[in-house]
Formats: sequence, C-alpha cells, structure tokens
Amino acid sequence: MSRNAESTAFRSALEVIRAVEPRVADAIGAELTDQRESLKLIASENYASPATLLAMGNWFSDKYAEGTVGRRFYAGCQNVDTVEALAAEHARELFGAAHAYVQPHSGIDANLVAFWAVLADRVESPALKKAQVRQVNDLTEADWFALRRELGNQRMLGMSLDAGGHLTHGFRPNISGKMFDQRSYGTDPATGLIDYDRVAEAAREFKPLILVGGYSAYPRKVNFRILREIADSVGATFMVDMAHFAGLVAGKVFTGDFDPVPHAHIVTTTTHKSLRGPRGGMVLCQPELADQVDRGCPMVLGGPLPHVMAAKAVALAEARRPEFADYAQRIVDNAQALAEGLLRRGAKLVTGGTDNHLALIDVSGYGLTGRQAEQALLDSGIVTNRNSVPQDPNGAWYTSGIRIGTPALTTRGLGTAEMDQTAELIHTVLTQTTAGANADGTPSKAKYTLDPALADKISRQATDLLAPHPLYPGIDLS
Ligand code: PLP
Repeated sequence: MSRNAESTAFRSALEVIRAVEPRVADAIGAELTDQRESLKLIASENYASPATLLAMGNWFSDKYAEGTVGRRFYAGCQNVDTVEALAAEHARELFGAAHAYVQPHSGIDANLVAFWAVLADRVESPALKKAQVRQVNDLTEADWFALRRELGNQRMLGMSLDAGGHLTHGFRPNISGKMFDQRSYGTDPATGLIDYDRVAEAAREFKPLILVGGYSAYPRKVNFRILREIADSVGATFMVDMAHFAGLVAGKVFTGDFDPVPHAHIVTTTTHKSLRGPRGGMVLCQPELADQVDRGCPMVLGGPLPHVMAAKAVALAEARRPEFADYAQRIVDNAQALAEGLLRRGAKLVTGGTDNHLALIDVSGYGLTGRQAEQALLDSGIVTNRNSVPQDPNGAWYTSGIRIGTPALTTRGLGTAEMDQTAELIHTVLTQTTAGANADGTPSKAKYTLDPALADKISRQATDLLAPHPLYPGIDLS
C-alpha cells in the first residue's frame, strides 16, 4: 500500500467536501491535527486503519437493508449481503463463535439486542406454548401482559458501576434498569478483585434471568468459566459484554477461562475500542439464540448501516492477521509498564496493577477528585477520563479515579519505555496540582490550581514523546 494512496484518498475526499461545506472539511482536518497532538490514554478509544475509515465513506450509506442476509425487507440488497456476510464470517472465525450478528450500531444497541433475544427465547419456550402461539411476533398485547406476570423473572445481576460495570448492565439511568430488576456484584474491598464466592451467593439469593460479565473499568482478567458455572447453578443465561477487551480476545491474549466466547450463551461487544474497528457493535451467540438475535432489526434497532458493516468486515479481516495478536500483547505490556511506572512513583492503583488494557488511578492519594485530575491532565496535553473507584465517596460525577488505557498509544507504536515516561508526566501533573476552594472557603471538588508554565512544559514533553510515532503516517493533508 503506497502512503501516497492514503494521502490522495483523504485529500480528495476533503476537497469534495470543502466544495459544499468548507467548515466541515476544516473540522475534519482539525480533528486529525488534535488527535495527532494529544497523548490519548482514553481506554475506550483507538485509531482505526485508513482502510477501515475509507470503507465507511461511500454509497453503502444510501441503502436500506432491514432484515438479515438473504432475508431483507428491501429489494436490491445483494451487495449489502456480501459485506454483512463477510463481516459475520470474519467475526465467527476470529472469535470461534457459532453465530455473529454485525448490525448493532453501537455497544448499547448490541446489549439491547442481547436482552431482547434472551427474553424472547425464554418467552418462546414453555410460556409461549401455553399461549398457543408459534412465534413471539404473534403475541398480542394481552398475551404479553399475561406472560410478563407469569414469567415474573426479569432480573439481572451485573457488576456494580463503581466496581467497573457499565450503565447498560441494569442501572436505573439506562433502559436496562427499567426492563430489569437489578442487583450488583462488586469487588472485594481489600483486594479490589471480583469475589466469585460473593457472586455465587448473590446469584443464589437473587435468581437472575441474566448474569452479566464484563466491564468498562475493571483492570483485571475475569474468569468466565467460573461465572458460567454460577449462571448454570441458578438457571440464568450468561451474557458477557466484552466491549472493552474484545481486542485482547481477538489477539488471543485472553484465552481459556478468560475468553468469554466458549463460556457465555451470548457475547456483545463494541467494534471501536481495543478491537480497533469502526464505531459500532456486534453480538456473538450460541446457535439456540441465533434466530432471536437476527431479529435485532427492526425489533430494537433501526435500519442497518451497510457502510459501517463494510468497515467492520475490513477491521475484522485486519484483526485476523498475525500482527494483530502482536498488537494485542503490546497493549497489555504497555498497560503493565504504565501501571508499574506509576506505582514506582507512589501512585495508588485499584487492585494494585493491571492485566488488561487499562489501569485505574485512585487520585485521592494526590488529594484530588477525578474531575480535578482529569482537567489538570488535559491542561497538560494528556487526555484521560475520570472514573469512579470502588466505594467511591465522590460519586459518579466528581469521582476519585482516573482511568487510563493503552490501545490508542499502542496503535501509534509507543512502547514500554515511553509508557514509563508517560507515567512520569502523569505523576508530575498530579503531584503539582492542588485542590481549590469554593467562594465560601469550603473545599471544591472541581476547582484546582496548576502552574500554567508547568502544564505547558508537560504538554511539550508529551508532544516530544509522540513525535517519533506519527499518527496516520501515510496521510499528509498539506
Ligand atoms: N458496554 C461497555 C462495557 C462499554 O464500556 C461501553 C462504552 O463505553 C458500551 C457498552 C457502550 O458502547 P457504545 O458507546 O458504542 O454504545
């Protein structure tokens, strides 16, 4: 692939856009500059390849394709069928899954599809027979009402938000918290690790319909074999949301008990985090759930995005290459080097380290809230996000933690030595930032003081660190 081809493709695209709305072309160009200049440690972000990005910008966007491959509600979907089937095939091969559904527009959509599939599957078995209908689509309003009362178990057991779970795992501000009664399992206060005995105990007491594994901010491996045994012991469906660590599963860093695919009934993911694909979602499942999963659109999803499915096919093909396994291993090596660098300098990390792509700094050790730390780091050219820590006294808005992750910097080619330098920059900013006060003298959870000259100096050092590893080296827009 000539670098020239990438530059030509993106320059030409911008020229075409500029002729219609120059401000959009300018914003696209400015975004590339900003991304190139920032030390991005947001654990859920990455940089998709030029091929993946280009696969999204085309006329596939013009096509309606409700339904699934070969069974569409619209005519003329032969080319959409090609890319959807390709993306699903790559996903099945990559993850060793029986079935893959590649239409979800995002991770949250993938979870909605999964919830629907599990509920519909349960309803279709004995309860449906009782209602004397063959398909869930044939149920009347009255049938639904009766079934909801009869089933009586729309309970979900998932990881608590402050231990690192996700909103869609049954929490009130999300539809999952309205569809399901929720109970959470947390982590051991002493170690910060999941206590599987406590999960089993909660499952026995609560008898969930769905046991959810997976997280947004837990820095350790999860034993999915044990969670499946717990689910089986109470007759629950075991669902894993691997949105964050799908790249580590794809790259065979997480295998055996730590690979959710052979253990879960249903697995959901995003495609844009460690998997490094386009912004989107995906569902993998056992054969018995496949029919219900394939009804995702139009049951809970809007029309599929064929241009994004094309990009998923490209990204998943990339993830099947041997070099992706090397990339996935480097993500973890880098996260561990970053964690060790911080620990050596005196930072407090939740669980004392990491064995995945992320680490969680408890910034209360620096006398700061997550909000203060996040802003001070941003002033210094380091992009992170604040995050609750287990039993967080500052709640979900101010928080006491900073989540950092290495998928993006690893894509740029930074290695373990640069992670140690990054740890030094982070530690310097956090030690030099002081919490501010409100007008009435009470401590503020948002205000802080950091010498602007120091912030500038750190920003320049961050830029120097990035300079040998240009982002999208093949793209020159000048
Ligand atoms: N699931 C988990 C575990 C996540 O961390 C996230 C997003 O951060 C999502 C789902 C939602 O993904 P999306 O933003 O693509 O809907």
